Amino acid sequence: MDVESMYQEVILDHYRNPHGRGLRDPFDAEVFHVNPTCGDEITLRVKLSEDGQTVEDISYWNQGCSISQASASILFDEAEGQPISDTFATLDEFVDLMHSKGQGEPDDETLGDLVAFSGVAKYPARVKCALLAWMAVKDAVEQAQKETGDE
Ligand code: ZN
Repeated sequence: MDVESMYQEVILDHYRNPHGRGLRDPFDAEVFHVNPTCGDEITLRVKLSEDGQTVEDISYWNQGCSISQASASILFDEAEGQPISDTFATLDEFVDLMHSKGQGEPDDETLGDLVAFSGVAKYPARVKCALLAWMAVKDAVEQAQKETGDE
C-alpha cells in the first residue's frame, strides 16, 4: 500500500468511527464554527483543569465532509487530557503543514494521525475542512481561559 492510500485509510477510519463524538457536560466554553465553502459545521465544548493548563475534556458534534470529521476525531485523540501548550504546538505544526501546498515534511511525532492530511494540503479548498475543528478548539480554550481568569 502506498503512503497516499494509507493516509486515506486513516482519514476514512476516523470518519467511520469518530473518537469522542457527542456533547458532554460539564464544560467551560462552547463554540460553533462553520466552513461555508464546504458546509462543514462543528459545535465544540472544552472543560479545562482547575489550573486552566490542561484540557480535561473535549466534546463535539459535527457534520460535513469526511476530512472535517476525521480531523475532529484526531483532535480528540491528540488533545484530550493533554496540556494546552502541547495542543497549541500541535495546532501550529498542523497549520504549517496545511499551508505547505503538499511540500511540507510532516513530523509524525508531533502530529500523530494528522500526518494523514499532508495529501489534503495540495487542495487549497480542503484546507479549511481539515483545520475547522482545530480552529474551534483554539477559540473554545481561549474563551474558557478568559472565563476562569475573571474569577
Ligand atoms: Zn469539508
